[in-house]
Amino acid sequence: MAIISSPKGTHDLIGNEGRAYAYISDTCGLVAAVYGFDPLLTPIFEANELFARGVGDATDIVRKEMYVFTDKGNRLMALRPEGTAGVMRSIIANKLYATNDLPLRYYYSGPMFRYERPQLGRYRQFHQFGVESVGSTSIMADFEVILLAIHMLNALGLDNITTKINSIGKKEARDAYRAALKKYYEPHLKDVCPDCKVRYEQNPLRMLDCKVPSDVELAKKAPTITEFLTPQDKNDLEFIKYSLNQYGISVEVDYGLVRGLDYYSGIIFEFAYIPPSGKDYGAIGGGGRYDKLVEELGGPSLEGVGFAFGIERLYHILNEEGKLAHTEIKDDFIIIGMSEKARHTVYGLLTTLRADGLRGIMNFEDKSFKSLFKIAENRGARIALILGEEEMKKEVVAVRDLKTQEQVEVPFDQVVNHVLVSCRHNHECGCGCDEEDCDCDEHHENHECCGEEDCKCHEGEEDHECCGRHKHDENHECTGKGKGRGVNCKKHNTEKTDTNETK
Ligand code: AMP
Repeated sequence: MAIISSPKGTHDLIGNEGRAYAYISDTCGLVAAVYGFDPLLTPIFEANELFARGVGDATDIVRKEMYVFTDKGNRLMALRPEGTAGVMRSIIANKLYATNDLPLRYYYSGPMFRYERPQLGRYRQFHQFGVESVGSTSIMADFEVILLAIHMLNALGLDNITTKINSIGKKEARDAYRAALKKYYEPHLKDVCPDCKVRYEQNPLRMLDCKVPSDVELAKKAPTITEFLTPQDKNDLEFIKYSLNQYGISVEVDYGLVRGLDYYSGIIFEFAYIPPSGKDYGAIGGGGRYDKLVEELGGPSLEGVGFAFGIERLYHILNEEGKLAHTEIKDDFIIIGMSEKARHTVYGLLTTLRADGLRGIMNFEDKSFKSLFKIAENRGARIALILGEEEMKKEVVAVRDLKTQEQVEVPFDQVVNHVLVSCRHNHECGCGCDEEDCDCDEHHENHECCGEEDCKCHEGEEDHECCGRHKHDENHECTGKGKGRGVNCKKHNTEKTDTNETK
């Protein structure tokens, strides 16, 4: 029978890749939470009209890339091509704006769908993590979300971030700029690509973003938005640039920057990661301010600002740059039952070890020792627990250290304890190493004190109430190190604040 392949432009997330996606999304979520953002997760399909009105009829996304279908109730629906419109729909439908606690701060994560030509880093189903800050006209809101984006990237271990910003002004500025662009492009219309001919009529700003080489050259000589910006728009750009510089974040003002969604107005921005090798990974994500979107979708007059990261792009960068090793999980043990009877005997051990949080499997079928040890090796297991006829008779389990190949016989009633002690330095670590003097913060934060003299655990020395995450590094000072760079240590941070306040 013919094999069914996954739809063109989609990909399966298998094993560690799936784990890495969850890690990227969770890490961004933890940083967003510190900034006061809450999740707002919307359906992956919505009324087609939401995107036609929200994202814009003239955008490539709505014109060419939407997955539109009629459901059994004859409603025209669409798979979401982006996250902002759905979040705005929810804010309006649930009257979330009826509060004086503005701006609303929400984040989302999940799959998006665009019928694009698949290529490296460009898929038809891809994932985004995004945030929206809705209900403030202050430039502080723009600054906050840009800073948040950079802190998320830092928390993922990416430091060399290039941030490009521009302003596309308010409607009046854009209208005047559109007219100027039309004037500029008019004599060249016969030479531009068919898409740009449509863009010329519907939204000439999008011509600046065309990837066709001859159109790229034309765009270079096109007038820029700068001359149409108001002094306020220019001040806003300067404010963002100056404020980010204050935090050591360099920003490039790029007057040619436009973004593919019609709802933007005012500040827009884009992030890229430039590794020490200089390799070009393309844009990680971007966003900007939207002033009319909520109103156009039937809500009150509220401005918002937000951005979205492409998780595929982030995964690609983190993987290429070797920054995902700690998300790879290895097994602690493998149980090898040499017969059906042995496997039944030892199943309780498997359950107990798993209940204790150790990761491992048992063979369900008879296989050769060689292939079972190969499986253990592939899964990175630390020890093998072997039960054959001989062991059953003696009521012992043969415990083999798969690194040193040393093997000992351990009585049934002592085997759980033996395995727990052997795996203690490894099991919650996630750094993947077996070293007892490993410097991985996670490793030392999470394991219980083993009582070893050279253990870095200072549990016994502490007299304050510890948050349990920075146990080993603290003498009441958060190191800020470790997964999430300290952001996931809520209790600890609160304690620090409390301490400062009482000083
Ligand atoms: P946008 O919603 O177009 O502003 O895109 C934000 C980010 O999502 C981009 O910078 C990419 O990282 C990612 N992205 C957009 N389209 C795709 C796609 N078709 N495949 C993979 N990632 C995408």
